[in-house]
Amino acid sequence: MKSISDQNPPLAPGLYLVATPIGNLEDITLRALRILRSVDRIACEDTRQTQKLLNHFAITTPTVSYHLHNEGQRSVELVEQLKDGASIAVVSDAGTPGIADPGHELVTAAISAGIPIFPIPGANAAINALIASGLATEHFTFHGFLPAKEGQRRTALEAFRKQASESALQQAGTHIFYEAPHRILDTLADIESTFGPAQPVVIAREVTKLHEEFLRGTVADLRSQLGSRASVRGEIVLLLSPIAAQSTGLLTRSIAEEVAALMQSESLSEKDALKRIARERGIGKSEAYRELQREQNRLR
Ligand code: SAM
Repeated sequence: MKSISDQNPPLAPGLYLVATPIGNLEDITLRALRILRSVDRIACEDTRQTQKLLNHFAITTPTVSYHLHNEGQRSVELVEQLKDGASIAVVSDAGTPGIADPGHELVTAAISAGIPIFPIPGANAAINALIASGLATEHFTFHGFLPAKEGQRRTALEAFRKQASESALQQAGTHIFYEAPHRILDTLADIESTFGPAQPVVIAREVTKLHEEFLRGTVADLRSQLGSRASVRGEIVLLLSPIAAQSTGLLTRSIAEEVAALMQSESLSEKDALKRIARERGIGKSEAYRELQREQNRLR
């Protein structure tokens, strides 16, 4: 029989990308704990946040900060230490490093320097929301966060709608986004006006935590469900199925294209065409007008 020391040989030098829990502290692997205990240092998105996890598991490995604002400089320093034979773990505040979190820059720098990279698998909000969503899992696209500003968010959604009319969205399967709770209602409104009220959506909130919740329905249903709450809190993954979007009939044309078509085919004024489109899409007239302006500006 192997002794414990045989089973746990000394750690090879290199960069270890260690996934940590996204809410439930039990969601850390035995291997992740061993790596965090054994490396020379742990590069953390936020050392204070990671210290809570390390204290919980009585891990005393030294930490160093590695975040969005020092990623470039810190990558250079860490790669120098790796070249000298160090073993370094990278962790983010929660989940898998490098996925909507720091990590990628250090990985590319380490690869260029010929350093071995070891992924240590574990929690990730997008994948766990997807598998429980009931939406297609065979194909999916992860987009990270949608833009926070309304205009840019509408432009991004409009781009997906355009791809859909070329059937790329269908092939891309389920679309996965991270979203902040204070923006979710605005984002759902933008999804409704871009893809139509029947667009199926899943909201995965507080995954693995005490108040975990999956809301499944049309975008119009979920908008009214969440809108009736005093506030929306917690962390959210938003998932979009392409299927009903294709059947709404809204996908083949942008607002500008629909306005032009109505003006030509029914001799409507731009104002009346916009009024009709707004009614059909379930959005306000001024919202339709703003979208038309954005589309026209993009074409200029
Ligand atoms: N690297 C992380 C991962 O692997 O999932 C994601 C980090 S990203 C900065 C944080 C976002 O992920 C949150 O704003 C939220 O959209 C999503 N998220 C993280 N934990 C979550 C949870 N427990 N439930 C739902 N969404 C979560």
